Amino acid sequence: MGKEGLTQKQVDRQDFVDNVIHGMLCRLAGEPDLAWNIEHIGTIRDAARDIICGDLALKTEMEFYPYIELEQVEGAPDKKAYMKTSGMTCLYCGSYQIEGGGVEVDDNAAIQGVKCLDCGRSWSDVYRLVDVREEKIGE
Ligand SMILES: [Zn+2]
Repeated sequence: MGKEGLTQKQVDRQDFVDNVIHGMLCRLAGEPDLAWNIEHIGTIRDAARDIICGDLALKTEMEFYPYIELEQVEGAPDKKAYMKTSGMTCLYCGSYQIEGGGVEVDDNAAIQGVKCLDCGRSWSDVYRLVDVREEKIGE
């Protein structure tokens, strides 16, 4: 595995998952010829993976949607580790000396520029709406 890529069976599994999701979107939208949109499919695939591999624990992520494990490229940021810290440390050097700028909100996301005061590099954090809380009247 790894460098050799995916087996035919694994590629077929990927196609199967994406086709099922696309078919579901077509049916739900009532548009049999809905354009193939891999971003939309990916959103649903991620949610389905969380339920099937996480909540239900019926398959591993590799069984659900086989993927090639990319080797960490030298000097490339470890985005996963960064997300785990909820963006508390520098994406590149791990320093806690980071400074967030103003937040820009568009239709789908809020974006905040962040700069590391130690290594001087900068990046953008992307936030999405995950919840809403009602204000309690009379408190
Ligand atoms: Zn840094």
